[in-house]
Parts: sequence; structure tokens; C-alpha cells
Amino acid sequence: MKGFEEVVHFHGHVCPGLAFGFRVAQAALEVMGERSQDEELVAVVENRSCAVDAIQVVSGCTFGKGNLVLKDYGKQVYTFLNRPDGEGVRVSVKWISPPEDQEMTSCWQRFSQGDRSAEVMRAIKAHKGRKILAILEADTADLFEIRRVKEQLPDQARVYPSIRCARCGEKVMEPMILMADNRPLCHPCVEREKGVKP
Ligand SMILES: [Zn+2]
Ligand SMILES: [Zn+2]
Repeated sequence: MKGFEEVVHFHGHVCPGLAFGFRVAQAALEVMGERSQDEELVAVVENRSCAVDAIQVVSGCTFGKGNLVLKDYGKQVYTFLNRPDGEGVRVSVKWISPPEDQEMTSCWQRFSQGDRSAEVMRAIKAHKGRKILAILEADTADLFEIRRVKEQLPDQARVYPSIRCARCGEKVMEPMILMADNRPLCHPCVEREKGVKP
């Protein structure tokens, strides 16, 4: 299984969201088996936070392969399904970070008032580090609600023929073409013609 260092390398920085995503993918793969080489595993993510980067690295479900599906609900819920049966697990984050002490609370207060002194920045960094460590070391049962599910699978990635947009001349995959006055148009051009976009 991919390590946390690889996840941090891909994402570019280390943060609590990434730690959550890492633990989510680990927990899911423990139940589902090995990471996805091709498209046999599908991940449905309900937010687009840092966590999703960890999920791509660890689970092998990516936008490019078409086996990462975004449902932008702003929820910390991740569902992993197997093809072709649609059986899998739903991982929902339930962890609540421990309450902050007085010192940290006043530190955040100073930060929000624009204080970027070395003292405040150091305290925030240390706090973040403690939070990341806590997430990485927590018991799976304390972090997540995990249950088995069986769901309808999203369509498999397909290759479609391209059609040229009648307005901008750029190529568009066929199912994404919109017809307006018998002219095939791309989405941005339809919006431009409606005057929504410049
Ligand atoms: Zn991040
Ligand atoms: Zn166009």
C-alpha cells in the first residue's frame, strides 16, 4: 500500500485533510482489497478537499481513468465500489478534533486579526502537526463510520468521437455537444451566445 510520504509528495504539502484522505483510502482498501490498476474499483467522493488527492494516490481511482466520481455535496463521505457488482463500502468521517486549549484559541484569534508574528505562526504550525499526527494514529473506529453498501455504478470511461464546435472550432466529445439552431456547439459557446459569459 502507498505510504503517507508518497501522498504528501503528490499533494505538495502536508495537512489534516490529506491525513483524513489517507486513512479513508486505507480503511476502504482493507475491506475491498488491492488498489485499482485499471477501473475495477470506483471511488465516489462527496467533496473536493485535500483528502481527495490522498484517495487518488492510495486507491488508484483518478479523474483521468474515469473511476473517480465527484458528487460535490460538501460532505466528508467516500464510497468505494467494485465493478461489476457495485458492492463496496461507504466511509463517513465522524471524528471530532479534541477541544483547543485557551492558548490556542487566543492564538487563532490573533491570527484572524492579521497577526502573522513568528510566535503565532509557530504555534499554528505545531497545532496542525499535532492534529495530523492524531488523525494518522487514531483508531479507525474513532475516525469513521464504515458500512457495506451495494450501489448503482457510474458509467465506465468511454472514448467518443469528436465534433467541431460551430462557433469556436474546437473539438468536443460527442455526448457533450449542444445543438442550437441546428449548429453543434460546445458548452462555453452556448453560454457566450446566451450572454452569460463574455
Ligand atoms: Zn492540503
Ligand atoms: Zn465552442
